[in-house]
Amino acid sequence: MKNITVENLSAKIKSVIRDVPDFPKQGIIFKDITPFLNNPEIFSETVRFIADKYKNRGVSKVLGIEARGFILAAPIALELKAGFVPVRKKGKLPYKTVSGTYDLEYGQDTLQLHEDAVKKGEKILIIDDVLATGGTAKCACRMAEKLGAEIESIAMLIELEFLKGREKLQNYDLFSLVKY
Ligand code: AMP
Repeated sequence: MKNITVENLSAKIKSVIRDVPDFPKQGIIFKDITPFLNNPEIFSETVRFIADKYKNRGVSKVLGIEARGFILAAPIALELKAGFVPVRKKGKLPYKTVSGTYDLEYGQDTLQLHEDAVKKGEKILIIDDVLATGGTAKCACRMAEKLGAEIESIAMLIELEFLKGREKLQNYDLFSLVKY
């Protein structure tokens, strides 16, 4: 891969992230990644950059968090020759699950993971589009740990630093490409 720096790529990504004020609630500035996904050059560069960062770290499963985390996690998993695992909202997964409840920037929710999706001792990479308060990512980590997996890292496309989600995830390796 060309020598692209985080700063360079981050600036490109920022140019295709759209701020939508007051969505889904008054006072929230929603980071809309659809223009980013619509740009094949920047999207693929991002997937390759993140996959490259983790390629020699023994990751065998990439967990994507519903719903936008799926879009990033699946191509990254393929690049890493790792399995893709969906972390879903309650009631969506058909087989036996483990569950976790968490607070998010707007409301509360429950996430689930298939109980056979990760194995004891497996190294996991967790992926989502936005790190806000950190509750969602922490919940995903806890569920994978409940199944005996080891969290190798958490990778976020965007980190909203003013919400201090990183503080909730101090025990984990955490990488974010774009910071606001
Ligand atoms: P949190 O648990 O607070 O870190 O929230 C993270 C989850 O909520 C992620 O799955 C994000 O997709 C979503 N989210 C939270 N805040 C925003 C935001 N301002 N813009 C877009 N997505 C957000």
